[in-house]
Amino acid sequence: MRGLPNSIQARDVEYVLHPVTNARKHEEIGPIVIDRGEGIYVYDDQGNRYIEALAGLWSVAVGFGEKRLVEAATRQMAKLPYYHTFSHKTNEPSVLLAERLVKMAPDRLKRAFFANSGSEANDSVIKMVWYYNNARGLRQKKKFIARTNAYHGITLASGSLTGLPANQRDFDLPFVPVRHVTCPHHYRFAEPGESEEAFADRLAAELEAVILEEGPETVAAFIGEPLMGAGGVLPPPATYWNKIQAVCRKYDVLIVADEVINGFGRLGTMFACDYYGIDPDILVLSKQITSSYQPLAAVMISQELYDGIADNSAKIGTFGHGFTTSGHPVPAAVALENLDIIEEKNLVENARRMGEVMQAELRKLADHPLVGEVRGIGLIAGVELVADKETKAKFDPVGKIGAQVFARAHENGLIIRAIGDVIAFCPPLIINEEQIHDMVRRFKLTLDETA
Ligand code: PLP
Repeated sequence: MRGLPNSIQARDVEYVLHPVTNARKHEEIGPIVIDRGEGIYVYDDQGNRYIEALAGLWSVAVGFGEKRLVEAATRQMAKLPYYHTFSHKTNEPSVLLAERLVKMAPDRLKRAFFANSGSEANDSVIKMVWYYNNARGLRQKKKFIARTNAYHGITLASGSLTGLPANQRDFDLPFVPVRHVTCPHHYRFAEPGESEEAFADRLAAELEAVILEEGPETVAAFIGEPLMGAGGVLPPPATYWNKIQAVCRKYDVLIVADEVINGFGRLGTMFACDYYGIDPDILVLSKQITSSYQPLAAVMISQELYDGIADNSAKIGTFGHGFTTSGHPVPAAVALENLDIIEEKNLVENARRMGEVMQAELRKLADHPLVGEVRGIGLIAGVELVADKETKAKFDPVGKIGAQVFARAHENGLIIRAIGDVIAFCPPLIINEEQIHDMVRRFKLTLDETA
């Protein structure tokens, strides 16, 4: 186990239950204590430097150690450290942020509701959609359709939308009515010889069949990450979203774009909805909204949804949903400063340009004996490791080689994420060309040492 008796490592093992971690393995190996960060790097308490190739958890857009965000938080803490937004109270930073998000977001989105995490935001989505449909007199229209491999959060409701067995097994999920349709993972799920276009047609047909099987009068919404992240970095076929949207519109099924990872420049456009031409009824944002310096999420809704909710709140007396910290002024002030930095430093354009470099460099690894597919757009990429490049056979057991690569990468000064045997890259949007070369060189070294 890492660390001496009574060290932070030892006390961590004694006192903490870690999220999304194998607890017994953790007791055995102990944690790495991350002590500080600067730019694209974090340092452990032994002084070792790592390139944070996943920006924390897909989230630190402006890099670590950004003093402007510290100052924005400090200024706001000194002025108004907290206030709620229930019962006709508000505060300036949360209003300015809502206004700014409405102006940035796809056209139909006219209001912002604030939560603290992506999971809470997606729970809020489910409740808002139910509330809205009840108000429309459509009391049966409650089911959600999500996709296999989706990640929409971890709470009872959002975790039900998630389509990853590891997050559901033995938690008795799903807890809300949901159907999972096939995710747009062409490499894995296309039929032999099936084009991307034909694959997208098939997935749209599957969605329509599921809606008809359930009964359109019972299906409320389709939720999807425009480009799936935590399920293995899965860019869909180019025409996928158009086809999915057409099916949803045909049956009055609301479209929820979960841009908790994609939002704020990740694909080289401000939102992935811009990239794919998605016109959602609801947009979910978090993570890069504050570069995760503060917890914050936003649910953006269309005028129709807002009006339905507002009318019902008048009819029954309240929209009885919200959190103690909804619209908290400190994360809102940090978000505003973070968005200023993203704009002033042209980080969306940097993500586009540096994304081309990163994608090209990673694709050079396609010939590596361990690599089955390299995929991604902008500054998000996945490298799928396979046992057999020809047959695409997975390693047995799945995740073992990914875990080896993950561990060895640390020794090479690199933090990546292993999703089973898919290695994910999602570095801070401030990354430069030289740093990308360094990151990919360390990754190649890691693969060579693992092969
Ligand atoms: N939605 C997506 C697309 C995510 O990737 C995540 C987290 O990774 C969530 C929702 C949940 O966010 P949180 O971990 O803040 O609850």
